[in-house]
Formats: sequence, structure tokens, C-alpha cells
Amino acid sequence: MKPSQIMVRYGELSTKGKNINDFIQLLAQNIKYALKDYPKAKVQWHRDRTYIVLHGESEEGVIAQLKNVFGIQTMSPVIQVEKTLEAVEQAAISLAEKLQAPGKSFKINTRRADHDFAYDTIELNRRIGSAVAQAYPELVVKMNEPDFVIFVEVRDNGIYLYAEIIQGPGGMPVGSAGRGMLMLSGGIDSPVAGYLSMKRGIEIEAVHFASPPYTSPQALQKAKDLAAKLTKYGREIKFIEVPFTETQEEIKRVIPEGYIMTVTRRMMLRITESLMHQRKALAIMNGESLGQVASQTLESMRAINAVTCVPILRPLVAMDKTEIVKIAEEIDTFELSIQPFEDCCTIFTPPRPKTKPHLDDVEKFEAAMDIDGLVKRAVAGVKIDNIGLEDVAKEIDAFEDLL
Ligand code: ATP
Ligand code: MG
Repeated sequence: MKPSQIMVRYGELSTKGKNINDFIQLLAQNIKYALKDYPKAKVQWHRDRTYIVLHGESEEGVIAQLKNVFGIQTMSPVIQVEKTLEAVEQAAISLAEKLQAPGKSFKINTRRADHDFAYDTIELNRRIGSAVAQAYPELVVKMNEPDFVIFVEVRDNGIYLYAEIIQGPGGMPVGSAGRGMLMLSGGIDSPVAGYLSMKRGIEIEAVHFASPPYTSPQALQKAKDLAAKLTKYGREIKFIEVPFTETQEEIKRVIPEGYIMTVTRRMMLRITESLMHQRKALAIMNGESLGQVASQTLESMRAINAVTCVPILRPLVAMDKTEIVKIAEEIDTFELSIQPFEDCCTIFTPPRPKTKPHLDDVEKFEAAMDIDGLVKRAVAGVKIDNIGLEDVAKEIDAFEDLL
């Protein structure tokens, strides 16, 4: 006997008050998208749980996909049987098969939504428990803190059983917090910042600054490949390539060496803010971690941040490099990130940027630049790619009838 559906439980979602239906529907949409390679699976959402009815699709395959869908706290493969004692006993025995081992303890926990069923919960617990104990004589029944529990729910249309509780990724459904612009370089940090932003419900668009011919097509492709890795946790990602050569050449021409890095960052931020408004996004995210490099001291952050008052989220601000690397490995971006392609900052930034830039000085030096013109031309010249969209276009019809 095999599970025919996966039950999905929400975490923090349940605290979302009257928005809860929007959240759950969004989660259901995200689940459907994540299961695009399992077209027979149907998603049924309810206020307290969502069920994925497998219709023959692989349980393992579906669970592997669900592990990437933010907003899922835990999940359980569920067996559904007709309302007879024999059927429910058999189902309990087959669920226990995976979990049983000599000396392990268990109990049965029955709930009845259908009070007309011939047996009450006490009777059901007793009968199912002894059927399982008979099938696996080395198991012991234990009421307090058993090693596993077989949950039995008697409902109008059948009896549902589950025993395994599998951890989901937690977080909030991607899109529930709105849209944000991720400043995505080719490094280790910014993809991790993107992943963590998505975990809290932000739908990301990636902004990447490229300075051809100083930066190579491979560096650009690397950033796109990193964005593609992140599509696993959401839907398609818009990849916005910003032409940055003119700005960088101008900075190099007029700004004293120690301040090149600060001004470069300020220009990136101005351009990203302009794109943020254009794309109707609400925030900017980057991969800065306090103290990691010269541009990430508090003095630097202050001087750079001064060009904007929109929210800048820094999900990595308090993390050590080793912690960031660990996540990069988990989300499979690390190997890509360490490929050695120079990005725009490394090429133009002198070896010793100022770690404590003075805002007055920065503004004085920048007066020699046509800031507005540079921002406008960069924004006008962007190229937008839809990473992962090919799959969506193909599958969109198949989704329509699923809810
Ligand atoms: P990363 O590993 O993400 O490149 P880093 O430690 O190398 O980060 P910096 O190069 O100082 O740090 O960059 C800090 C942040 O600025 C990056 O995390 C990223 O968000 C943004 N950034 C840097 N270069 C670019 C770029 N070419 N395009 C877009 N964003 C960038
Ligand atoms: Mg970098």
C-alpha cells in the first residue's frame, strides 16, 4: 500500500490573519510551478493544509521538489483507504514498515471527523495498535514520547493515515513580500543573499553590472547561470544586464584612486534604484557582510547608502564567510561562484580603496561627473533576459485546470 498524496503544513503562514487565503493560494501556485515535471499531480489547497494528490507521480520526486518551496513547514506522505477496519489496519502496517526497528516504540493517534463511523477513537487506537504490534512483534507500544506516531484521520470520504513528518524549507511563499532587486555579481555572496531574500517571500529580479570589453562574456554568463540556480526556489527570474562601461571609464578619469570604489558603488546603487522604481519593486538586496572588505565597513556603507533612501536589505550582514559558504554549497552556487572570471569592480578598483571615505569628499569629487546622464544612459541600455521562462511558457496551459 502506497501513499496517494502528500499533506503540506504551513508554518508562519497561519499567523497571517485575513491575508491568509492569498498566502495559501500563492503557495499553491508556487507548488504547482515546482511540480511542473509532474503534470498528473494535483494541488488542493485548504485553509489549514494543502494536499498534493499524486495520481501516480513519484512520491520521492514530488517531495524533493517540495523541499524547495518556501512556505512549507513540514509534509507527510498520506495513505487514503476506504472506511473498513481491515483497510486501515493494513495501511498502518505498511506505514510502520519504514519506521519500525527492534526495540522502537510507537502509538496510534486517531481523530474522527465522521462520528458515524462504527468505531470510536479509543477502540480504533487499540485495534490498529495491536494489528501493528502483531505484524512487528519487536515493536513496543508507548503512550509518552514514542519513537513514532501513526496518525489516523477518519473523514467523510475515507480514512487518512500518515506517520512520517518531513521538514520543508520553512520561510514564506516567494512573491508574498513583493518584488525586490537583487544586485547579483558573480561572487559567492550575492546569490546567497538572493536565496535568503526569496526565503522571506521576496520575488527577485537580478541586476548585474557588466563592463565589456573589460569584463568577459563568460563573467556575464556566470552571473546568468547563478540566477538560473535560484529559479529552483521560485519562478522565472528577470536578469537585467546593465551596461556599466561608460560609467566606470568616467569614474576612472575623474575620481581619485582611493575613492573609485565608493563612487562605483554609489553609481551602482543609483542605477539600481532607478530600475527598482521602473520595475515597481520595493527594495534592493545585496550580498554585503559587515567588515568583509573595504566597501563593507560601516563608514563605507554610510557613504554609499547616502545616495538613496529606499530600503536596502543585506541578508548576510551578520554572517561570517564560512557561514555564507556553507549556504552557497547547500544551494549549489558555490562551485559556479568560484570560477575565476573578473567582474567589473575588480578590474577598475585600485588595490587600496579607502575604508573610511568621507561623504563631503565623495560629493565634491562626484561634482565633476554628469551623474544623471550616466544613470539615464545605463538604465536606457539594459538588456533583460527571462531566466527559466522557457519552461513556464511550455507548461502554463497544463497548470490551468489544476486548482
Ligand atoms: P559577491 O561575492 O556577492 O560578489 P563580494 O564579497 O565580492 O560579494 P563586493 O564585490 O564588495 O563583495 O560586492 C558587494 C555587493 O555588491 C555584492 O554582494 C553584490 O550585491 C553587489 N555587486 C558587486 N558587483 C556587482 C556587479 N557586477 N553586479 C551587480 N551587483 C554587484
Ligand atoms: Mg564581488
